[in-house]
Amino acid sequence: MDPKPPILSLSATELEKWLADHDAPEYRRKQVWTWLARGASSFGAMRDVPKALRDELDREFRITSLHPIAVSQADNGLTTKTLFELDGGHSVEAVVMRYSDRSTLCISSQAGCPIGCPFCATGKFPFGRNLNAHEIVEQAVDAVRLLAVEGRRLSHVVFMGMGEPMANYRAVVESVRRLSDPDLLAISPRRIVVSTSGLIPRIEQLGSENIPVTLAISLHAARDELRDVLVPINRKYPVRELVDAAQGYADKTGRRVSYEWVMLAGVNDTERDAKELGVLLKRKLAHVNLIPFNPVEDTPYRAPDRASIRSFKALVEAQSLNVTVRDTRGREADAACGQLHERVMRNKLVPVS
Ligand code: SF4
Repeated sequence: MDPKPPILSLSATELEKWLADHDAPEYRRKQVWTWLARGASSFGAMRDVPKALRDELDREFRITSLHPIAVSQADNGLTTKTLFELDGGHSVEAVVMRYSDRSTLCISSQAGCPIGCPFCATGKFPFGRNLNAHEIVEQAVDAVRLLAVEGRRLSHVVFMGMGEPMANYRAVVESVRRLSDPDLLAISPRRIVVSTSGLIPRIEQLGSENIPVTLAISLHAARDELRDVLVPINRKYPVRELVDAAQGYADKTGRRVSYEWVMLAGVNDTERDAKELGVLLKRKLAHVNLIPFNPVEDTPYRAPDRASIRSFKALVEAQSLNVTVRDTRGREADAACGQLHERVMRNKLVPVS
Protein backbone atom coordinates (compact mmCIF):
# COMPACT_ATOMS: atom_id res chain seq x y z
CA MET A 1 0.00 0.00 0.00
CA ASP A 2 1.26 3.51 -0.87
CA PRO A 3 2.02 5.63 2.19
CA LYS A 4 -0.30 8.56 2.81
CA PRO A 5 0.84 11.82 1.21
CA PRO A 6 2.62 14.23 3.56
CA ILE A 7 0.51 17.30 4.33
CA LEU A 8 3.15 19.70 3.00
CA SER A 9 3.12 18.02 -0.41
CA LEU A 10 -0.13 19.96 -0.95
CA SER A 11 0.06 23.59 -2.02
CA ALA A 12 -2.09 26.16 -0.20
CA THR A 13 -4.68 25.94 -2.99
CA GLU A 14 -4.72 22.14 -2.97
CA LEU A 15 -5.17 22.01 0.81
CA GLU A 16 -7.97 24.58 0.65
CA LYS A 17 -9.68 22.51 -2.04
CA TRP A 18 -9.36 19.39 0.11
CA LEU A 19 -10.87 21.32 3.03
CA ALA A 20 -13.75 22.54 0.86
CA ASP A 21 -14.38 18.96 -0.27
CA HIS A 22 -14.64 18.05 3.42
CA ASP A 23 -17.03 20.91 4.22
CA ALA A 24 -14.36 22.81 6.14
CA PRO A 25 -13.71 26.55 5.70
CA GLU A 26 -10.63 27.84 3.87
CA TYR A 27 -9.15 29.40 7.02
CA ARG A 28 -8.50 25.94 8.48
CA ARG A 29 -5.55 25.71 6.08
CA LYS A 30 -3.88 28.62 7.85
CA GLN A 31 -4.56 27.00 11.22
CA VAL A 32 -2.95 23.73 10.13
CA TRP A 33 0.10 25.56 8.75
CA THR A 34 0.40 27.65 11.92
CA TRP A 35 0.52 24.45 13.99
CA LEU A 36 3.21 23.00 11.73
CA ALA A 37 5.18 26.25 12.08
CA ARG A 38 4.91 25.95 15.86
CA GLY A 39 6.35 22.45 15.81
CA ALA A 40 3.19 20.31 16.18
CA SER A 41 4.14 16.66 15.78
CA SER A 42 0.64 15.31 15.07
CA PHE A 43 -2.71 16.45 13.71
CA GLY A 44 -4.16 15.55 17.11
CA ALA A 45 -2.15 18.40 18.68
CA MET A 46 -3.90 21.02 16.49
CA ARG A 47 -6.33 21.99 19.22
CA ASP A 48 -8.27 24.75 17.48
CA VAL A 49 -9.08 22.43 14.56
CA PRO A 50 -12.32 20.45 15.18
CA LYS A 51 -11.69 16.87 16.31
CA ALA A 52 -13.56 15.32 13.34
CA LEU A 53 -11.41 17.28 10.89
CA ARG A 54 -8.20 16.39 12.75
CA ASP A 55 -9.18 12.71 12.51
CA GLU A 56 -9.92 13.09 8.81
CA LEU A 57 -6.53 14.80 8.23
CA ASP A 58 -4.84 12.00 10.15
CA ARG A 59 -6.59 9.35 8.04
CA GLU A 60 -5.51 10.93 4.76
CA PHE A 61 -2.13 12.56 5.40
CA ARG A 62 1.19 12.15 7.18
CA ILE A 63 2.59 15.04 9.20
CA THR A 64 5.97 14.58 7.44
CA SER A 65 7.61 12.23 4.95
CA LEU A 66 11.00 12.31 6.71
CA HIS A 67 12.09 9.46 8.98
CA PRO A 68 15.00 10.35 11.30
CA ILE A 69 17.41 7.39 11.23
CA ALA A 70 20.45 8.78 13.06
CA VAL A 71 21.31 11.80 15.18
CA SER A 72 24.72 13.16 16.08
CA GLN A 73 25.43 15.97 18.62
CA ALA A 74 28.44 18.26 19.02
CA ASP A 75 29.56 21.53 20.61
CA ASN A 76 27.99 20.61 23.99
CA GLY A 77 24.59 20.15 22.40
CA LEU A 78 24.68 23.38 20.37
CA THR A 79 24.90 21.45 17.09
CA THR A 80 22.53 18.64 16.11
CA LYS A 81 22.85 16.73 12.88
CA THR A 82 20.02 14.46 11.78
CA LEU A 83 20.09 11.90 8.99
CA PHE A 84 16.63 11.43 7.46
CA GLU A 85 15.45 8.62 5.25
CA LEU A 86 13.27 9.79 2.37
CA ASP A 87 10.38 7.94 0.76
CA GLY A 88 12.02 5.46 -1.59
CA GLY A 89 15.08 4.91 0.56
CA HIS A 90 17.63 7.67 -0.08
CA SER A 91 18.83 9.71 2.87
CA VAL A 92 19.80 13.34 3.54
CA GLU A 93 21.30 15.31 6.40
CA ALA A 94 20.17 18.51 8.13
CA VAL A 95 22.17 20.37 10.77
CA VAL A 96 20.78 22.70 13.44
CA MET A 97 23.29 25.19 14.88
CA ARG A 98 22.37 27.24 17.97
CA TYR A 99 24.02 30.62 18.57
CA SER A 100 23.38 33.31 21.17
CA ASP A 101 21.42 35.48 18.72
CA ARG A 102 20.08 32.99 16.18
CA SER A 103 19.33 29.37 15.29
CA THR A 104 20.44 28.29 11.84
CA LEU A 105 19.49 25.22 9.84
CA CYS A 106 21.79 23.85 7.15
CA ILE A 107 19.46 22.13 4.73
CA SER A 108 19.89 19.53 1.94
CA SER A 109 18.37 19.91 -1.52
CA GLN A 110 19.48 16.65 -3.12
CA ALA A 111 20.27 13.11 -1.92
CA GLY A 112 23.92 13.03 -2.92
CA CYS A 113 25.38 15.55 -5.34
CA PRO A 114 26.21 15.35 -9.05
CA ILE A 115 29.03 17.94 -8.88
CA GLY A 116 31.66 15.64 -7.33
CA CYS A 117 34.04 18.06 -5.59
CA PRO A 118 36.99 15.87 -4.51
CA PHE A 119 37.21 17.26 -0.94
CA CYS A 120 33.53 16.64 -0.15
CA ALA A 121 32.04 13.59 1.57
CA THR A 122 28.71 14.02 -0.29
CA GLY A 123 30.45 14.06 -3.66
CA LYS A 124 31.97 10.64 -2.91
CA PHE A 125 28.84 8.52 -3.00
CA PRO A 126 26.54 8.03 -5.99
CA PHE A 127 23.95 10.71 -6.72
CA GLY A 128 20.48 9.67 -5.51
CA ARG A 129 17.78 12.11 -6.54
CA ASN A 130 16.44 15.63 -6.31
CA LEU A 131 14.34 16.42 -3.25
CA ASN A 132 10.78 17.67 -3.68
CA ALA A 133 10.00 21.12 -2.27
CA HIS A 134 8.04 19.59 0.60
CA GLU A 135 11.00 17.37 1.58
CA ILE A 136 13.16 20.50 1.84
CA VAL A 137 10.53 22.37 3.88
CA GLU A 138 10.01 19.34 6.13
CA GLN A 139 13.66 19.54 7.21
CA ALA A 140 12.90 23.07 8.43
CA VAL A 141 9.67 22.00 10.12
CA ASP A 142 11.59 19.26 11.93
CA ALA A 143 14.17 21.85 13.09
CA VAL A 144 11.33 24.08 14.30
CA ARG A 145 10.00 21.15 16.34
CA LEU A 146 13.42 20.42 17.83
CA LEU A 147 14.03 24.07 18.72
CA ALA A 148 10.49 24.75 20.02
CA VAL A 149 11.07 22.29 22.88
CA GLU A 150 14.04 24.45 23.91
CA GLY A 151 12.09 27.71 23.62
CA ARG A 152 14.04 28.66 20.50
CA ARG A 153 12.93 29.81 17.05
CA LEU A 154 14.41 28.84 13.73
CA SER A 155 15.70 32.17 12.39
CA HIS A 156 18.07 31.36 9.49
CA VAL A 157 18.29 28.71 6.77
CA VAL A 158 21.33 27.99 4.61
CA PHE A 159 21.16 25.70 1.57
CA MET A 160 24.62 24.31 2.20
CA GLY A 161 23.85 20.68 3.06
CA MET A 162 23.88 17.82 0.60
CA GLY A 163 23.41 18.69 -3.04
CA GLU A 164 23.77 21.54 -5.51
CA PRO A 165 20.66 23.69 -4.94
CA MET A 166 20.72 25.21 -8.43
CA ALA A 167 20.63 21.71 -9.97
CA ASN A 168 17.24 21.28 -8.28
CA TYR A 169 16.14 24.80 -9.10
CA ARG A 170 12.34 24.62 -9.18
CA ALA A 171 12.02 22.72 -5.90
CA VAL A 172 14.53 25.00 -4.19
CA VAL A 173 12.75 28.19 -5.29
CA GLU A 174 9.38 26.72 -4.30
CA SER A 175 10.79 25.72 -0.89
CA VAL A 176 12.22 29.22 -0.34
CA ARG A 177 8.77 30.67 -1.07
CA ARG A 178 7.25 28.34 1.51
CA LEU A 179 9.97 28.92 4.12
CA SER A 180 9.34 32.64 3.83
CA ASP A 181 5.52 32.42 3.54
CA PRO A 182 4.06 34.44 6.46
CA ASP A 183 1.40 31.69 6.88
CA LEU A 184 4.03 28.98 7.22
CA LEU A 185 7.57 29.50 8.57
CA ALA A 186 7.83 33.27 7.92
CA ILE A 187 11.62 33.26 7.63
CA SER A 188 12.65 36.40 5.77
CA PRO A 189 14.40 35.64 2.45
CA ARG A 190 17.16 37.90 3.75
CA ARG A 191 17.86 35.23 6.33
CA ILE A 192 18.02 32.48 3.74
CA VAL A 193 21.27 31.68 1.94
CA VAL A 194 21.25 29.71 -1.32
CA SER A 195 24.66 28.42 -2.29
CA THR A 196 25.90 27.21 -5.63
CA SER A 197 29.05 25.75 -7.08
CA GLY A 198 28.41 27.92 -10.13
CA LEU A 199 25.46 27.11 -12.43
CA ILE A 200 25.44 30.48 -14.18
CA PRO A 201 22.07 30.25 -16.02
CA ARG A 202 20.30 29.46 -12.74
CA ILE A 203 22.03 32.36 -10.93
CA GLU A 204 20.65 34.69 -13.61
CA GLN A 205 17.20 33.13 -13.26
CA LEU A 206 17.28 33.46 -9.46
CA GLY A 207 17.90 37.19 -9.85
CA SER A 208 14.50 37.49 -11.57
CA GLU A 209 12.46 35.58 -8.96
CA ASN A 210 11.86 38.54 -6.67
CA ILE A 211 12.97 36.58 -3.61
CA PRO A 212 16.00 38.48 -2.30
CA VAL A 213 17.87 35.56 -0.75
CA THR A 214 21.59 35.85 -0.11
CA LEU A 215 23.58 34.15 -2.84
CA ALA A 216 26.67 32.20 -1.77
CA ILE A 217 29.21 31.06 -4.32
CA SER A 218 31.31 28.02 -3.41
CA LEU A 219 34.46 29.52 -4.91
CA HIS A 220 37.45 27.77 -3.26
CA ALA A 221 39.89 28.87 -6.00
CA ALA A 222 40.30 32.04 -8.05
CA ARG A 223 42.08 30.52 -11.07
CA ASP A 224 40.49 28.10 -13.52
CA GLU A 225 43.38 25.64 -13.44
CA LEU A 226 42.86 24.94 -9.71
CA ARG A 227 39.08 25.41 -9.64
CA ASP A 228 38.67 22.92 -12.52
CA VAL A 229 39.98 20.33 -10.04
CA LEU A 230 38.32 21.46 -6.80
CA VAL A 231 34.90 22.30 -8.29
CA PRO A 232 34.59 20.34 -11.56
CA ILE A 233 31.58 22.37 -12.84
CA ASN A 234 34.15 25.14 -13.39
CA ARG A 235 35.13 23.41 -16.64
CA LYS A 236 31.71 24.35 -17.96
CA TYR A 237 31.28 27.70 -16.19
CA PRO A 238 34.70 29.35 -15.71
CA VAL A 239 35.38 31.40 -12.63
CA ARG A 240 35.42 34.90 -14.16
CA GLU A 241 32.06 34.39 -15.88
CA LEU A 242 30.74 32.99 -12.61
CA VAL A 243 31.79 36.06 -10.64
CA ASP A 244 30.26 38.32 -13.33
CA ALA A 245 26.95 36.43 -12.99
CA ALA A 246 27.11 36.70 -9.19
CA GLN A 247 27.77 40.43 -9.45
CA GLY A 248 24.76 40.65 -11.80
CA TYR A 249 22.70 39.09 -9.00
CA ALA A 250 24.12 41.62 -6.52
CA ASP A 251 23.28 44.51 -8.89
CA LYS A 252 19.72 43.29 -9.37
CA THR A 253 18.92 42.52 -5.75
CA GLY A 254 21.23 44.88 -3.84
CA ARG A 255 22.32 41.81 -1.84
CA ARG A 256 25.99 41.31 -1.11
CA VAL A 257 27.27 37.97 -2.42
CA SER A 258 29.04 35.60 -0.05
CA TYR A 259 32.08 33.83 -1.52
CA GLU A 260 32.83 30.59 0.32
CA TRP A 261 36.40 29.36 0.47
CA VAL A 262 37.11 25.96 2.04
CA MET A 263 40.74 26.23 3.16
CA LEU A 264 42.76 23.19 2.10
CA ALA A 265 46.28 23.24 3.57
CA GLY A 266 48.93 23.97 0.97
CA VAL A 267 46.39 23.87 -1.88
CA ASN A 268 44.47 27.16 -1.84
CA ASP A 269 45.81 29.05 1.20
CA THR A 270 48.93 30.68 -0.26
CA GLU A 271 49.82 34.31 -0.96
CA ARG A 272 49.26 33.66 -4.67
CA ASP A 273 45.68 32.49 -3.95
CA ALA A 274 44.94 35.59 -1.86
CA LYS A 275 46.25 37.90 -4.58
CA GLU A 276 44.26 36.14 -7.31
CA LEU A 277 41.16 36.41 -5.14
CA GLY A 278 41.83 40.13 -4.68
CA VAL A 279 41.99 40.65 -8.46
CA LEU A 280 38.89 38.50 -9.10
CA LEU A 281 36.67 40.27 -6.56
CA LYS A 282 37.96 43.81 -7.03
CA ARG A 283 35.08 46.32 -6.87
CA LYS A 284 32.53 43.52 -6.40
CA LEU A 285 29.76 43.58 -3.76
CA ALA A 286 31.38 40.68 -1.94
CA HIS A 287 32.09 39.07 1.36
CA VAL A 288 34.63 36.25 1.68
CA ASN A 289 33.90 33.43 4.09
CA LEU A 290 36.92 31.29 4.92
CA ILE A 291 35.98 27.78 6.07
CA PRO A 292 38.81 25.72 7.54
CA PHE A 293 38.51 22.26 5.95
CA ASN A 294 36.75 19.64 8.06
CA PRO A 295 38.81 16.50 7.37
CA VAL A 296 37.06 13.87 5.24
CA GLU A 297 38.39 10.29 5.14
CA ASP A 298 39.91 9.01 1.91
CA THR A 299 40.64 12.44 0.47
CA PRO A 300 44.17 13.81 -0.06
CA TYR A 301 43.34 17.11 1.67
CA ARG A 302 44.36 18.38 5.11
CA ALA A 303 42.98 21.08 7.38
CA PRO A 304 45.15 24.20 7.78
CA ASP A 305 46.59 24.95 11.25
CA ARG A 306 45.56 28.03 13.20
CA ALA A 307 48.61 30.05 12.13
CA SER A 308 47.90 29.39 8.43
CA ILE A 309 44.24 30.40 8.88
CA ARG A 310 45.27 33.69 10.54
CA SER A 311 47.90 34.44 7.94
CA PHE A 312 45.64 33.67 4.95
CA LYS A 313 42.90 35.85 6.44
CA ALA A 314 45.41 38.71 6.77
CA LEU A 315 46.52 38.19 3.15
CA VAL A 316 42.91 38.37 1.92
CA GLU A 317 42.25 41.47 4.05
CA ALA A 318 45.30 43.06 2.50
CA GLN A 319 43.43 42.80 -0.83
CA SER A 320 40.81 45.20 0.63
CA LEU A 321 38.19 42.45 0.81
CA ASN A 322 35.68 41.87 3.62
CA VAL A 323 36.56 38.52 5.12
CA THR A 324 35.54 36.36 8.07
CA VAL A 325 36.60 32.90 9.21
CA ARG A 326 33.56 30.70 9.70
CA ASP A 327 33.10 29.09 13.07
CA THR A 328 33.88 25.41 12.44
CA ARG A 329 30.78 24.10 14.10
CA GLY A 330 30.17 20.43 14.65
CA ARG A 331 33.49 18.69 14.07
CA GLU A 332 32.28 15.89 16.35
CA ALA A 333 28.95 15.85 14.49
CA ASP A 334 30.52 14.84 11.17
CA ALA A 335 29.91 18.41 10.12
CA ALA A 336 31.14 18.32 6.55
CA CYS A 337 28.11 17.53 4.45
CA GLY A 338 27.75 13.83 3.74
CA GLN A 339 29.84 12.64 6.68
CA LEU A 340 27.00 11.43 8.89
CA HIS A 341 25.50 9.59 5.92
CA GLU A 342 28.84 7.95 5.26
CA ARG A 343 29.32 6.89 8.89
CA VAL A 344 25.82 5.39 9.12
CA MET A 345 26.35 3.55 5.85
CA ARG A 346 29.51 2.07 7.37
CA ASN A 347 27.47 1.02 10.44
CA LYS A 348 29.53 3.06 12.83
CA LEU A 349 26.56 4.85 14.36
CA VAL A 350 23.65 3.58 16.40
CA PRO A 351 20.42 4.54 14.62
CA VAL A 352 17.56 6.45 16.26
CA SER A 353 15.35 3.94 18.08
S1 SF4 B 1 30.91 20.60 -2.04
FE1 SF4 B 1 28.74 21.01 -2.51
S2 SF4 B 1 28.70 21.08 -4.77
FE2 SF4 B 1 30.63 20.06 -4.21
S3 SF4 B 1 30.12 17.83 -4.19
FE3 SF4 B 1 29.83 18.61 -2.08
S4 SF4 B 1 27.64 19.10 -1.95
FE4 SF4 B 1 28.18 18.98 -4.15
